[in-house]
Amino acid sequence: MKILSVASEIYPIIKTGGLADVAGALPLALAKHGIETTSLIPAYSAILPKLGKGKEIHIFKDLFGYEAKLLRHKVGELDIIALHCAPLFERMGGPYNDINGADFSDNWARFGALAKAAAEIASGAVKTYAPDLVHCHDWQAALAPVYMYFGNERAKKTPSIVTIHNIAFQGRFGFEIFENLGLPQEAFDIDGLEYYGDLAFLKGGLAKAWAINTVSPNYAQEIKTAEFGMGLEGLMNARSHELHGIINGIDYNIWNPATDKDLTAPFNHNLLSNRKQNRVTLNEIFGLKRSKQPLLCVISRLTWQKGMDVLIDAIDDIIKMGVKIAVLGSGDAALEAALMAARNRNTGSLGVKIGYDEALSHLMQGGCDGILIPSRFEPCGLTQLYGLRYGCVPIVARKGGLTDTIIDANEAALNAGVATGFQLDNVTKFDLLRAIERVKHVFSRNKDWAKIQKNGMKSDFSWEKSAQKYVEIYRGLIAQSGKI
Ligand code: ADP
Repeated sequence: MKILSVASEIYPIIKTGGLADVAGALPLALAKHGIETTSLIPAYSAILPKLGKGKEIHIFKDLFGYEAKLLRHKVGELDIIALHCAPLFERMGGPYNDINGADFSDNWARFGALAKAAAEIASGAVKTYAPDLVHCHDWQAALAPVYMYFGNERAKKTPSIVTIHNIAFQGRFGFEIFENLGLPQEAFDIDGLEYYGDLAFLKGGLAKAWAINTVSPNYAQEIKTAEFGMGLEGLMNARSHELHGIINGIDYNIWNPATDKDLTAPFNHNLLSNRKQNRVTLNEIFGLKRSKQPLLCVISRLTWQKGMDVLIDAIDDIIKMGVKIAVLGSGDAALEAALMAARNRNTGSLGVKIGYDEALSHLMQGGCDGILIPSRFEPCGLTQLYGLRYGCVPIVARKGGLTDTIIDANEAALNAGVATGFQLDNVTKFDLLRAIERVKHVFSRNKDWAKIQKNGMKSDFSWEKSAQKYVEIYRGLIAQSGKI
């Protein structure tokens, strides 16, 4: 079985968030089931050195007005097809925005081109490669099923699936760009791309893909409601028979506290005392005073979604409770500034690093006692899974995949010896402080705390089980296409 995975980022080549982790790890997990995955990604200038020379497999004479090429590359164990188009992808900044953080104004063309390239591959344009199924991740790839739906017989008969990593990001653009997409007029209707007079790439993909999937069972339910569906709840209800929820796995080779080179002191569940040495390093890095109270961390995009405004509102009170906090993140300028101001008020108790630092994120998971994740919505969440693996106890909002993966340390769960973290009912200052009170209380009972850490470290969120579920969906869709 040959799968073409289409994504705008893929770890370890280019990453801004959880999408990259999934796009990078799933192909390796699927390989164990005999599935060949090739990943189609844009050849951003920042990743050209990592891609190396590559082998040309196709030329587009006119892709959104530009000449473009598909090159095959091998990066580690990943099979990559990169879409090389200098005017679209070779520029300063990140995958989606310029150096000032503003979205590129032609993102519709950049990711429209990515999706169009995927559909062309499905239509048989590349002589040396033909996928059995196209798996699209998020809005950046979501136009592919639309192009396939309106494409040649072969493209139409190739199954497609769209995975929603976050339904809040919909790739919404003004209707005036529609004529540039090269789609028939009928694609711009209520059963296609049209979205409140505008168009939304994600909506088009969700309407036309053979199946839809999201990254946790709970989020698959939540997005059918107005609170979480972000306007797409009607479509999610209409397609609920084809909507799946599969929890993300994590790569246990990369996230393994026993072998992690980013830790001062590696450890395992029988050697939790080593975590103290990691904490010493963290105290230095974040300028924190030594303390016997819990050290909690945040590793996150600093946004409203992640509940960072609520955390900032509560932070002085949390510090007053004797708890220390280390924050690593970047995002909204106002939240970054508020955190820096809070740090200046709480020197020695609150450490803040603004930026993106993969190595430091590992050390924080390996040295902090808990990780705070007060998200307003969270499709799956990965940092709580890394926390579980590293004995860094997750303190999470009861939302999306956080609900599916964390067992709250209430008295019943503590007595049964199954707790793995703490949940807060609502993302409010009051509930956050109440949860931290509970954290402090259990932390003071060393045995109970160690039990929670060990439960988490032993829980299994590897890709094995989740990859199996993807295989089942792929098989079902390919059977429908009549290929098997
Ligand atoms: P999302 O994809 O919504 O940002 P996830 O929890 O699914 O949230 O994934 C976030 C990923 O990005 C995790 O791998 C996390 O460790 C990483 N991450 C987030 N912010 C930072 C940061 N400032 N530095 C290093 N890693 C970060």
